[in-house]
Amino acid sequence: MTHKIKVKNPIVEIDGDEMARVIWHLIKERLLHPFIEIDISYYDLGIKERDRTDDKITVDAAHAIKEAGIGVKCATITPNAERVKEYGLKKQWKSPNGTIRAILDGTVFRQPIIINNIPPAVKTWKKPIIIGRHAYGDIYKNTELVVDSPGKAELVFTPEQGGEQQVFEIHSFAGRGILMAMHNTEQSIRSFARACIHYALGEKTDLWFGTKDTISKQYHGFFRDVFGEEAEKEKEKFMKAGITYRYLLIDDAVAQVLKSEGGMLWACMNYDGDVMSDMVATGFGSLGLMTSVLVSPDGTYEFEAAHGTVVRHYYEHLKGNETSTNSIASTFAWTGALAKRGELDNTPEVIHFAQTLEKAVIETVENGIMTKDLMLIADPPVKTFVRTEEFIDAAAEKLRERLGV
Ligand code: NAP
Ligand code: MG
Repeated sequence: MTHKIKVKNPIVEIDGDEMARVIWHLIKERLLHPFIEIDISYYDLGIKERDRTDDKITVDAAHAIKEAGIGVKCATITPNAERVKEYGLKKQWKSPNGTIRAILDGTVFRQPIIINNIPPAVKTWKKPIIIGRHAYGDIYKNTELVVDSPGKAELVFTPEQGGEQQVFEIHSFAGRGILMAMHNTEQSIRSFARACIHYALGEKTDLWFGTKDTISKQYHGFFRDVFGEEAEKEKEKFMKAGITYRYLLIDDAVAQVLKSEGGMLWACMNYDGDVMSDMVATGFGSLGLMTSVLVSPDGTYEFEAAHGTVVRHYYEHLKGNETSTNSIASTFAWTGALAKRGELDNTPEVIHFAQTLEKAVIETVENGIMTKDLMLIADPPVKTFVRTEEFIDAAAEKLRERLGV
């Protein structure tokens, strides 16, 4: 190759673990480095390095993304007790994604990659359904209790600056039962609404939001009102972008999404987003086709694949056995980061490279070359699957063809 495309400003790269790390390095070596020159700010969040630095490296990486504006992340292990033993760790380090999300105050959007011969389980779905999950509060920061004897439960609020205490009776228990209290904040809901609006405008896709405000008139009603106010402020931008904001009851939203052809950003309250993102991911085929992007209110982006470290494949790989791990979502994490970098830097040749790489990958699958997870759901059916490396090499060949190099 005579001339490499130059990426003007730095991208923060976060390395990860296990099979995801294996494909990560193959992607860089075969799909990126031969064609582009990137100024990388590299953070190794592999489990050993997090352990060695007492997880300081995760915090450093998050601050680096904040500074550069764009990051791209490989899947990482969130250690549990078994992992502590397996890797001889000092402790169960926190989820790196949780740490990074807290520092960037971001919202996560999950978006499927659509490929013609990989039909979704839901026949009507033709365009991506992006799920935006509010990742603060509700049952994820609750206080709960198993009630063991008869007694009265009350909800009490004590104003900081004096004033009258508010007391509401929740229930008088005659026997055993359960109790839960949860909260959210206006600031967090507003940030979430703004991140969703920002992302919908960027993607030029309709924005939907649903709650159960008919039953929960105050709690869910508050979400509806705050979200609606933020959407109202951007009414003109929505019109200009040719997109709409739609509020629905959550059960109606579920029904409408299933009947639709897709093509919306579905903003969800925390629990709804947790559940619905798994439903939508499965509906679109494979975890290997689901990308994820963390967007902060100040417009910082971190791209990644939605899947984990694909540990079962990694153990096979360590035994020296062949693997067929799908590298598409990880590749699209890179193309997402590059395209966004190109947009911010005003370098169309970088955006063009990212788009060309995406097309090359999709064309490879549409030509019948795919990993095993996709072979199982392809239509028209294909008879064979390729190995992890073979897929990346086939995509690289298509990329060279398309770039004419
Ligand atoms: P996973 O790595 O997503 O894998 C679950 C299963 O889904 C795999 O065993 C595989 O099924 C299939 N799969 C996922 N990605 C695939 C791909 N690219 N190609 C082909 N098949 C794929 O989830 P996990 O096993 O629950 O978690 C493993 C580790 O990842 C854990 O330590 C967890 O903490 C971490 N994790 C990290 C992130 C992140 O960093 N964002 C997210 C989730 C999990 P088959 O085995 O049937 O082939
Ligand atoms: Mg879930």
